[in-house]
Amino acid sequence: YKGDPTHLEIRKMLDGIHVEEIMSVPAVLDEKASVYDGICAVFLENIGTIFITRQGFLVGCVSRKDLLRSAIGQVDLEKTPLSMIMTRMPNIISIGPKDSVYTAAQAIDQWEIDALPVVVGEEQLKVVGRLTKTNINRLVVELGGDDES
Ligand code: ADP
Repeated sequence: YKGDPTHLEIRKMLDGIHVEEIMSVPAVLDEKASVYDGICAVFLENIGTIFITRQGFLVGCVSRKDLLRSAIGQVDLEKTPLSMIMTRMPNIISIGPKDSVYTAAQAIDQWEIDALPVVVGEEQLKVVGRLTKTNINRLVVELGGDDES
């Protein structure tokens, strides 16, 4: 599609849409919450990735597969804290609310992950949103749709 004359226009449009315009409400649990709590949250909130905080600041994230891995292991799910199974800082890929949708889509593609925490702050990061493949997909449907959709 690179040679297509509309390519630059599409890129310009995606650069002009901010993450905060299409992000969702994040699912956040404290690092002391259990793996069992995490599994419940995935079902109740119908999400795939939970962001993990300590004293309200981002310290990690837990994906569906992280939860599945511990569920098939020999551990007490109610006694195992999410901090034991999470992917932790500084390895968390995040995005800012004012970053472009294109930057977010690139990060999701490059790191092969489903979700990015949308964060504000310098060293201590507050989670203000969640940007997932679903948000990007919804945007594509919206951009491609006619007036009635
Ligand atoms: P799943 O594991 O359910 O397929 P992902 O592909 O998003 O979901 O996650 C793959 C791995 O990457 C997991 O171990 C997860 O903890 C980690 N991960 C998920 N999101 C992020 C992120 N934003 N930054 C860093 N690591 C992440």
